[in-house]
Amino acid sequence: MTSTRARFQGNGEITFEQVTLGDVAEGEVRLRVDVCALCGSDKRLLHSGATVVPGHEIGGTVVGGALPAGTRGIVYIPVFCGTCVRCAAGRTNQCLHLSQLIGWQRDGGFAEHVDVPARCVLPVPDDIPLSVAVLGLDTVGTAAHALRLALRTQDTVDRLLVVGAGPLGLGVVAVARAMGIAVDAVDPNPARLETATALGATPAGDLSAENQYDVVVEVSGADAARATAQRVIRPGGTVVALGESNEPYTMPATPRWRRTDCYTVRSFYFPVDEMAANWDLLRVMGGPLRDLIVRPLTLPELPEAFARFVAGDHVKPCIVSADADVVSEVTR
Ligand SMILES: [Zn+2]
Ligand SMILES: [Zn+2]
Repeated sequence: MTSTRARFQGNGEITFEQVTLGDVAEGEVRLRVDVCALCGSDKRLLHSGATVVPGHEIGGTVVGGALPAGTRGIVYIPVFCGTCVRCAAGRTNQCLHLSQLIGWQRDGGFAEHVDVPARCVLPVPDDIPLSVAVLGLDTVGTAAHALRLALRTQDTVDRLLVVGAGPLGLGVVAVARAMGIAVDAVDPNPARLETATALGATPAGDLSAENQYDVVVEVSGADAARATAQRVIRPGGTVVALGESNEPYTMPATPRWRRTDCYTVRSFYFPVDEMAANWDLLRVMGGPLRDLIVRPLTLPELPEAFARFVAGDHVKPCIVSADADVVSEVTR
């Protein structure tokens, strides 16, 4: 069996290679990749190059290995051990022996096929299309988990601010609205802000004053956005740091910040025991979110998909298999 996969050579260059697939390793599953979404973090690998096949927002169909053929699943990125105390408690994102991330330290989904540990395959309920299910990973899974953590710190949340309306920020908007929370959003890109508005957010007003929000979800990772979050949060409020960047996260040593009981919550990914609740969320908001942000392209079009992603034309380009139903689910 042969299969095509993408290689990131660095400096924005993508090449394709055809490989002959061997046997599936013990405890693993081979998936036909039906859909693999581009993530903002992949842009770093596009620049630096990668020793493995990138792509970590994967939905596919089992074609071999430790699960029944034909099973539809999405792929949980962190390879958790499944046996430590945190995994046993269902908190797989807190595994004490976290080793690899799929698409980062082992081959991911910009390919026709990918082999993953069977426990990383989250079966998709029959009533949820794969094009919606794949949003249950980085976009909705991460957003919902972060919001649940934030809500645990607060008695009431009257108003929440999302700083940065990229794919994850839009996921936070959609999930917060589905949870019944009023949401303001801010983004320097008018098109992104417009998408946030279509999902139910209100464009934020003047953010120069302090003490405006109960919860601020900072999704950009930029210094200025982090400073905004720390300024507009009210005493006792919660800043959720979701943005990914290599910049240090600075807590200002100002009297206001030191003396007002603010929470800072940092989160990266969701635990598998939240998946049932996330399917329920996706049944409500997944279709509309997909229709607003997902744009399907094929594997040979991956360079074009990244070009459009980087240019900001597409919020969430997805590489889809011509063999899968996913193509017909999404409008080009
Ligand atoms: Zn990602
Ligand atoms: Zn573990």
